[in-house]
Amino acid sequence: MKNTFSKTLLGSALALALPATTALANGSDIERVIVKFKDGSGPSIQSLVRSSGGRIERDLSANHGAFAISIPQHALRGLENNPNVEYVEEDVRRQLLSTEQVPYGIPMVQADQLSDSMAGNRTVCIIDSGYEAIHEDLSANNVLGTNDSGTGNWYEDQNGHGTHVAGTIAGIANTVGVVGVMPNTNVNLHIVKVFNADGWGYSSSLVAALDVCEANGANVINMSLGGSRASRTEENAFTNAYGRGVLSIAAAGNDGNTRHSYPASYDAVMSVAAIDETKTIASFSQQTDQVEIAAPGVGVVSSVPTGTGLSTTFTANGTGYESAAMEGAPQGTVTSSLADCGIGDSACVGASGQICLIERGVISFAEKVQACEAGGGIGAVIFNNEPGMLYGTMGEVATSIPSIGIDQADGQALVGSGASATVSIAADNYAPFDGTSMATPHVAGVAALVWSHHTACSAGEVRNALNVTAEDLGAAGRDNAYGNGLVQALAAHEYLLANPCTGDNGGGDNGGGDNSCKGGPRKCG
Ligand code: CA
Repeated sequence: MKNTFSKTLLGSALALALPATTALANGSDIERVIVKFKDGSGPSIQSLVRSSGGRIERDLSANHGAFAISIPQHALRGLENNPNVEYVEEDVRRQLLSTEQVPYGIPMVQADQLSDSMAGNRTVCIIDSGYEAIHEDLSANNVLGTNDSGTGNWYEDQNGHGTHVAGTIAGIANTVGVVGVMPNTNVNLHIVKVFNADGWGYSSSLVAALDVCEANGANVINMSLGGSRASRTEENAFTNAYGRGVLSIAAAGNDGNTRHSYPASYDAVMSVAAIDETKTIASFSQQTDQVEIAAPGVGVVSSVPTGTGLSTTFTANGTGYESAAMEGAPQGTVTSSLADCGIGDSACVGASGQICLIERGVISFAEKVQACEAGGGIGAVIFNNEPGMLYGTMGEVATSIPSIGIDQADGQALVGSGASATVSIAADNYAPFDGTSMATPHVAGVAALVWSHHTACSAGEVRNALNVTAEDLGAAGRDNAYGNGLVQALAAHEYLLANPCTGDNGGGDNGGGDNSCKGGPRKCG
């Protein structure tokens, strides 16, 4: 069995707008201070600062009668005693305050409109690569797990995929990181680790995992995995589990074709397609007559094993811009002026010591970054050549400077600006992933959330409620790209209020790989 998930650990969604900052002087004898001067004394203070070997860092004279300056320590006393100076104070640091992000998919599936206070009556089983139990956004959940032979401890995750999936289902509302579909630590999770770092296992392991899930009380099973060949043993197992009340939900596949992927394409399993922030089908999402429902699966930000994600920031002239680290780019922080490098198809002459601003097109992103390096550039910012953000990869090419993608409009606005810019790529505990693997936990989470309010329902009745209340997308009615459309938690809940369950398992079916630089969600150039 081949896994279907994307494993792009790089990206942008945690890019935060930085306040205007200027590099602090590093020398121990240099002080960064704010000088408040008396009316009309600005010019004389300015020249005093310069003659003392200091530098004006920020001119606040027009509205605040002050300068922020860097000045040698020995000159500070004289400045403080100058009759034209009201006071001198340290220019203290201000920094980003950690805040919790609500990933776009959470409101898109209406998870924020339906309380998860009842979710303790449901158990979601996640068959995946494990669950980093020490993660700040997962550690307080009600979670148990089972190790599959040969894959290590369920509470560790060498791959990162399972931890990402878990964060979408149950990332905790705790002021850090993200929130999942059920963020209040009520739902019960059971983790079955069938994948090691390589991310594949056998069909028989999946069948055994299904048994483990059921033995541990699973109502809903999340399978962000799949492979192209069906298995009779698997199909029978899922059919029988469904008959016993277990709702299995799986990824439609990431190959961008019209082939079935399994287990998603068994009738007893819901097959989930991936859409983006604009509710458009992802190019990689497999389109088949088994696709049943759609959910966010592009640029989904969630938890990854601590320190293995990346946060990216890009500021120019003090303004923060959305940015995405190029996959495979090295970490680092650089600050300098932007140098215009056109499309970057030759060494960017004049970029020495600067950050190259390059337009997408003609050659690969890696070649553009190499051209920047050849010109002495210390960082590279590549802007899209079509509307929207640029998510790119270096492929297998090794580069030595931090490189990021930005939106076309932002890039065009910065051409010719020579703006003072900072590019930063740093380790983080969260990352945006792409894949039907990321769409699947949105549906599994919503299924458990809705079901927790309607425990008299059978698996089939919950499934039917999700399908009939999905927001129709694409061609009118069910289609092979979106299935019945975008899963909607509140609408399904209201449907079940109006149409109470009888417990019959009558819901029918209508229900999807792999990716890399070749044909994967990420563009190479
Ligand atoms: Ca959180």
